[in-house]
Amino acid sequence: MSELEIDRIRPGAAANFIGGHAVVGKGRTFEVLRPSDGQLLAPLHAADEAQLAEAVENAARAQKQSGWATMEPRGRMKLLHRWADAIEADAAWLAPLEAAGSTRTLAEVRAWDVPYTAGCIRFFAEFADKHGGEVASTTPDKLGLTITEPYGVVGAIAPWNLPLVMAAWKLGPALAAGNAVVLKPSELTPFSVVRLAELAVEAGIPAGLFNVVQGGGADIGDALVRAEQIGKVSFTGSTRTGRAIMTACAETGPKPVTLELGGKSPQIVFADADLDKASAIVAKAITLNAGQVCVAGSRLLVHESVMEPVVERITKAFAAHRIGATWDARTTMGPIVSERQLETIDGMVSRALSAGGEALTGGTRASAPQQGSFYEPTLLAGLSQDAEAVQGEIFGPVLTLQTFADEDEALSLANGTRYGLAAGVHTTDISRALRAVRALEAGTVWVNRYGRSDDHMLPTGGFKQSGVGKDLGREAYLGNCKSKTALIGV
Ligand code: NAD
Repeated sequence: MSELEIDRIRPGAAANFIGGHAVVGKGRTFEVLRPSDGQLLAPLHAADEAQLAEAVENAARAQKQSGWATMEPRGRMKLLHRWADAIEADAAWLAPLEAAGSTRTLAEVRAWDVPYTAGCIRFFAEFADKHGGEVASTTPDKLGLTITEPYGVVGAIAPWNLPLVMAAWKLGPALAAGNAVVLKPSELTPFSVVRLAELAVEAGIPAGLFNVVQGGGADIGDALVRAEQIGKVSFTGSTRTGRAIMTACAETGPKPVTLELGGKSPQIVFADADLDKASAIVAKAITLNAGQVCVAGSRLLVHESVMEPVVERITKAFAAHRIGATWDARTTMGPIVSERQLETIDGMVSRALSAGGEALTGGTRASAPQQGSFYEPTLLAGLSQDAEAVQGEIFGPVLTLQTFADEDEALSLANGTRYGLAAGVHTTDISRALRAVRALEAGTVWVNRYGRSDDHMLPTGGFKQSGVGKDLGREAYLGNCKSKTALIGV
């Protein structure tokens, strides 16, 4: 796609979606920039507090009055399938819209984000008529049941790193379980989800069931979480914001909350690993979406005897990247979402270097054909376990390197941060792999691979400061249902 073509992508001014209609926000105005070249994508007119209240009110009314939660469950399933079909059919508009305003390359969005978003909705649609509750084992003089019911309105708050996909993780299970949703996307990547909402109405999902409100986190995000009619909150973003949201849920509820938060995930390469395969996986896991992935494998722990060949392979893989605009078909690694985020990355790298660290490759912003925000894939060595760059989430293409002498040391380094989102283990020894799966303090452990499977079956979520609750899988569906107990005397 040429720059000229991408220039034609102009989201409309009506970027809030309330009660089945796109409406112009009456709140603050943000300038949404294209990370690939720093140009204005479009102004964003955020909702004001009255519009937020209207969106929540509309959602509550639609959830009660549209029959969404009480219709034949198969009917709900069919409408969600129709919506997923519409999302896929709209890829010609949805994909460039997403790619123009985010860090996702157009090729990736077409090949993965759009089909994945549709697939995620389809996966959860199937739960609508397949999970009603359970019958308990009781004595014959009574019958004990658990019945699942929707919360009502789910308040969903999403980050900027994969705008469509993160929205689908929230929307799929919440709607399938019979809830309505009010979604606040990130103010950096606000537009593509509005198209999802339009498509939902076109597919026949009742107006008001899926609303989008735009705005900043501290004002509209906080007001959404605190709104009285919000029955459950589902958040993906940083640990710091997660804490603020949990506090708001406690102060105004308590309300149940799912938090998918930050990570600092280790990748352990043992001496017996297939070094070609492991190095390729490690390099990809920190450069995918330019490292702006919650589960980015950002700490390489490698056995001291194989450090050199692994570093050589990773350095080569980093050098092979072509950094550029998301719409350039030659790009293999896109931009950092904003200059502010780039400065955060660069600040952490600079401090690591002044504290005695060494950049084996990278360590600076990257030059690219466009004037956007780009950062070199970076490998940082010479850092101790307590260094800021080893402990803190950088959320960019920066990998720290540490060596270990034995399995105990590897596992202790791996577990030695406050995060616990994911971990990778590379070994050909099955017993060692199983020991590591047990010992690693992480919500997900991948062995001889890194990254989720695309079938949506396996739940994802963090231990420690990486979160509470799960997205994806059966657990995410159940996380959007209340469980009611009935005991009947016979
Ligand atoms: P962020 O926490 O800054 O913002 C996330 C969202 O929260 C945005 O929509 C923002 O406007 C909103 N927000 C901010 N303050 C708020 C408040 N006080 N009340 C309500 N809403 C508020 O995160 P980000 O920079 O957009 O995203 C990057 C972070 O997300 C990283 O830490 C990353 O690890 C994490 N993430 C986690 C997962 C996961 O599954 N665990 C997935 C993707 C991203």
